[in-house]
Amino acid sequence: MVRALSLISAIQSHLAGGGNGRSEKQNPHQKDHTNSSQARTFFVGGNFKMNGSKKSIHEIIERLNNTKLPENVEVVIAPPAPYLQQAVTENKQKTVYVSAQNSFDKASGAYTGEVSVEALKDLGVPYVILGHSERRTINKEDDAFIASKTKFALDQGLKVILCIGETLEEKQANITLDVVKRQLQAVVDVVSDWTNIVVAYEPVWAIGTGLAATPSDAQDVHKQIRDFLATVIGKDQAEKVRILYGGSVNGKNAVEFRDKADVDGFLVGGASLKPEFVDIINSRN
Ligand code: PEP
Repeated sequence: MVRALSLISAIQSHLAGGGNGRSEKQNPHQKDHTNSSQARTFFVGGNFKMNGSKKSIHEIIERLNNTKLPENVEVVIAPPAPYLQQAVTENKQKTVYVSAQNSFDKASGAYTGEVSVEALKDLGVPYVILGHSERRTINKEDDAFIASKTKFALDQGLKVILCIGETLEEKQANITLDVVKRQLQAVVDVVSDWTNIVVAYEPVWAIGTGLAATPSDAQDVHKQIRDFLATVIGKDQAEKVRILYGGSVNGKNAVEFRDKADVDGFLVGGASLKPEFVDIINSRN
């Protein structure tokens, strides 16, 4: 009887999700990419940073549209803000979502140049990257501000890719864990539900340098991040949080992270603009 009921409910939910409308496509809350061998859905994000044109972004999206992508990988592309609408409109893949690279912690008003969460939702953008090291260093965003933006975005219904990571000096001083814990704690202080946060561990020394962390070093830090999260948000939540590695990931080295249990995907900068992005998406399959 129980099996019959769950079969009926599975058929109903299949039929309910059978359409191909934009709202379903851009709402990852409604979809489940979980594969049976791994509880956390593999995630590959592409951060285009301040790169691209209408033409080049069209080409990247067309490449993804014309590729058979694995169903069990959630892919997120983050073009510069002026191209978000184009990305949402041109993307035809059900497993590809669009992300902003920033959003503000106020709803609207006299904040020249800022990106509002409401505007992102209006465009059908479900994700935002917050806390990227380039914004922490160049734009002098501190932990509290990033936490405030994270809380605001989550409260308004966006999903957040929360970037953390140590600089080279901090790594050399052996304080990597202190740094990432401090960055996480600022968010823990204001957010209790981590369901819609994806953490991206991005050592600053590895970003754009061609010097990726070794898979075992990344795994080591990821495990300690998860252990820390377990102590502050509880084991159940911590087990579900996806922790991405970011920093010089490319089409060749991505497969080397394959057997790392706490590396749940990647946040990719430079290589996300190139055809090898597809190899990274396929690296776990
Ligand atoms: C990034 O900026 O998020 C990043 C990981 O860059 P890259 O892959 O180019 O090192």
